[in-house]
Amino acid sequence: MSRVYFLDIRKKYKTDHIKLLQRLIDKSSALKLYSKNSTCAIKLHVGEEGNVHFVNPLYIRCLTNVLKTTGAEPFLTDTTTLYAGRRFRADLHVQVAHEHGFNFAPFIVADGLHGDDFYEIDGAKIAGVFKRVNTIFFVSHFKGHLNCGFGGALKNIGMGCASRGGKLDMHSGAKPYIDRDKCTFCLECYNYCIFNAIKKNKAVTIVDRKCTGCGGCMSICPEKAIKFRWNAASGDLQKKIAEYAAKTIKDKKVFFVNFLTSITPNCDCFHSNEPFIHPDVGILASSDPVSLDQACYDMIKNAVDELHPDLDSQVQLYYAEKFGAGERKYEIESV
Ligand code: SF4
Ligand code: SF4
Repeated sequence: MSRVYFLDIRKKYKTDHIKLLQRLIDKSSALKLYSKNSTCAIKLHVGEEGNVHFVNPLYIRCLTNVLKTTGAEPFLTDTTTLYAGRRFRADLHVQVAHEHGFNFAPFIVADGLHGDDFYEIDGAKIAGVFKRVNTIFFVSHFKGHLNCGFGGALKNIGMGCASRGGKLDMHSGAKPYIDRDKCTFCLECYNYCIFNAIKKNKAVTIVDRKCTGCGGCMSICPEKAIKFRWNAASGDLQKKIAEYAAKTIKDKKVFFVNFLTSITPNCDCFHSNEPFIHPDVGILASSDPVSLDQACYDMIKNAVDELHPDLDSQVQLYYAEKFGAGERKYEIESV
């Protein structure tokens, strides 16, 4: 049974949350992983342009400083996106990181300028930077997710550490379709899709063989007329994310912090700010990403399940355990 450290921010404290985060890390086993001059990647998500609900950079700066007390030399990292946007290319991704306040440590895009710097582990295409670091500290925003029900540490590892080719592999089974009754023919999706997978005639249609399943058109459609076939797509995607996650962290020294705060229905790749689906709960940490995500899910289960009643968001937890990324049983230690 893995231990999950829990800082309940619904309580009143005499000290601020930044100092409490420091206490959470001190209490956990995290700092034992680091040593003088060791290179350490902090894997995070800096938020899409227009999104303000990503993990506050003040917390990440605190974590960076705590890691530095061990003599380690941390840098921040994330990968390029599959969908169109400023994080699609590394140089623009760095700009967004700086604009969002992540300018207190080096920020490196892990899969290169165009997302094609990667290495392979049994067919999984993982961003090249992770081959060159042995210690990775994952900071994840736990929230709802369009295709998976929720996105937490496993999503941040599996999808977030994959190169663009890896992301394509994972999305390959998920193809959206257009609900003609809702479509107003505004053509926003047509203009958005960089893969030319949307055709316009008298109506817009998606060409399956060209579609990568990136989901970008779904986030852009003002009428919510673009949908996934959940049952077929979600389970397969979650399984692949779990598989990639297990392969990415195998033989690495890893630690995970999840922020169960600003709980939006969709991920930080969305360029808009949506109403929260649940009030803030707290910050959780563990050396086991499966236990950590399971604990977060259990704390806001009803809100996640209501979001997508037709999909089972625990598939990722089941497969992550099966592939050896961790275990679902956990015990909570309050800090
Ligand atoms: S963005 Fe939505 S409403 Fe507009 S054309 Fe595409 S599917 Fe139709
Ligand atoms: S049609 Fe397919 S490739 Fe194009 S934006 Fe939508 S999901 Fe992505």
